Amino acid sequence: MPRLLERLQDEITALDAQSLRRRRQIAETACAPGQSLTLAGASAPRTMLGFSSNDYLGLAAHPALAAALAEGAARYGTGSGGSHLILGHSRAHAELEERLAGWMAPFIPEAQSLFFCTGYMANLAVLSALGGAEAAIFSESLNHASLIDGARLAKARVERYPHCGVAALDAQLGACDAPVKLIVSDAVFSMDGNIAPVAELLALAERHDAWLVLDDAHGFGVLGATGRGVLQAMGLRSERLVLVGTLGKAAGVSGAFVAAHRTVIDYLVQRARPYIFTTAAPPAIAHALLASLALIEGEEGDLRRARLQARIAQLRRGLEAILPADGSAWLPDSPTAIQPLVVGDNARAMQAMAQLDARGLRVGAIRPPTVPAGTARLRITLSASHSEADVARLLDALGDALARPWKEAA
Ligand SMILES: *Cc1c(COP(=O)(O)O)cnc(C)c1O
Repeated sequence: MPRLLERLQDEITALDAQSLRRRRQIAETACAPGQSLTLAGASAPRTMLGFSSNDYLGLAAHPALAAALAEGAARYGTGSGGSHLILGHSRAHAELEERLAGWMAPFIPEAQSLFFCTGYMANLAVLSALGGAEAAIFSESLNHASLIDGARLAKARVERYPHCGVAALDAQLGACDAPVKLIVSDAVFSMDGNIAPVAELLALAERHDAWLVLDDAHGFGVLGATGRGVLQAMGLRSERLVLVGTLGKAAGVSGAFVAAHRTVIDYLVQRARPYIFTTAAPPAIAHALLASLALIEGEEGDLRRARLQARIAQLRRGLEAILPADGSAWLPDSPTAIQPLVVGDNARAMQAMAQLDARGLRVGAIRPPTVPAGTARLRITLSASHSEADVARLLDALGDALARPWKEAA
């Protein structure tokens, strides 16, 4: 084997030895958390009940959205044919941006929005464009990988601040004389489910003349009375807000948007390379997203948000009753659909996942480097399409998994 290949293989083998090797599974069916999910198996496909998707409202397999996608493809074709600046920008994209701007107008004065292919790209775009050489980026320490990579792409100086560390951030901002400052945070932390102290962060942004960039990937569609996300839930309003929402999670389709004051959006169109130098998403996706937004803000969205809240309450009550007395597993405070059960050790997380797997339940085991070393966890995500019986079944299996004695690997 050539040396170059050997080096790669050694690294993969080392990951395996630490229970850190990642593997993909092939889904044969639609993502519909409360219904069964068929995964390709070694011998035959297996039908599983999933608790690991980000399809919080259960819209990813909604027939109305599939119909809208087909209608969009019939009207606009499959490909956009180009980048947004070179004829790839369709009527469907423009309508979606207008609708999202309207959604954010109560929270951001003179709001406009810009549609992206993915949230990853939206975050790269915002941080690289606003974080120029004269800027300083203040990045929350549990931020999503896409924000970390965006900060790397930016020419700005980057400082991390402690998780929810408002006082530390205040001091860091006070000590910084950069003419442009960006505070950057997940609104809902993706591996922990807790909500950032956004009102306090915005107050700091006002006091220190900074932008507040919020990544609402897990709040959009779910938080707030009509699902407009964290800003609606907290009742905030400021022209310093730059909100990134993703559209492949609760919205059940794909893509993302940035909402901000129109001058910021105009600037991104001029300067954000991850916006400019890529083919626009298929217009049919934008067309399907318009249908998704209608569901989210209507009665169906209300019903689905209420059902999700009921499942969250049920799971937390049930888990609190079965946590081991020795403190070897714990349940962080999370009011959202993301409910981590922290078990510490990588191999223990894998073992628990395998036990659930054997009972037809699919839960993600999250290990370093996605989470800090020693905090491997089962990341349970709930959806409006889970029934009370589904959650009861999960609790039953988790009770058995947690009751099993656990020895740290030597
Ligand atoms: C999923 C996620 C993203 C990336 O969004 P995609 O549309 O999947 O690329 C960005 N930020 C956070 C916090 C996320 O959870």
